[in-house]
Amino acid sequence: SFDECYIKSVMRTIPDWPEPGVMFRDITPLFKDPKALRMISDEFIQRYIDTDITHIASIDARGFLISSIMAYQLNIPLVLVRKKGKLPGKTIQREYALEYGTAAVEMQIDAVTEGDKVLVFDDLIATGGTVLAACTIIKELGAEVYETATLIDLPDLGGSEKIQQSGIPVHALLAYE
Ligand code: IMP
Repeated sequence: SFDECYIKSVMRTIPDWPEPGVMFRDITPLFKDPKALRMISDEFIQRYIDTDITHIASIDARGFLISSIMAYQLNIPLVLVRKKGKLPGKTIQREYALEYGTAAVEMQIDAVTEGDKVLVFDDLIATGGTVLAACTIIKELGAEVYETATLIDLPDLGGSEKIQQSGIPVHALLAYE
């Protein structure tokens, strides 16, 4: 069963990366530890196994790693939300603000459609800009966002609160103050 202390003991925090003042929560050790990866994946799978979600929309790039395990086990389609310029064919794009400048995410226009109930997954929620941009695209394509799931929430940055205020539930396994 899920053991928060174990997962936190495997996680790593890198101070001052990628710039001074940032405490970067590094999840790469979780992928190096089969017990941790299994614990996390199983926890998410259990949460969604008896729901009517039809798709997982997974965010570039670390979000892909856990959501592909979920999609396999739940036996539902996995669709990709990528950084701008990575997806071929017809795409829909959404910009969002960063501390300095903007970023954009993109989906293929046939990724989801009306009637779909989509779980949005990313590894970490900071300001919430990435997840909110993904949710906007999914709604523009006519689908419904069921919930957003993440491994780590940084509540001090207010992202998960902002997402919830927009009417989308947030499920996070861990929080770091
Ligand atoms: P947001 O759009 O500000 O919520 O930032 C979330 C995105 O930035 C996610 O796709 C994360 O992968 C990445 N990110 C931001 N801060 C961290 C961190 O401390 N560790 C790992 N990823 C981070």
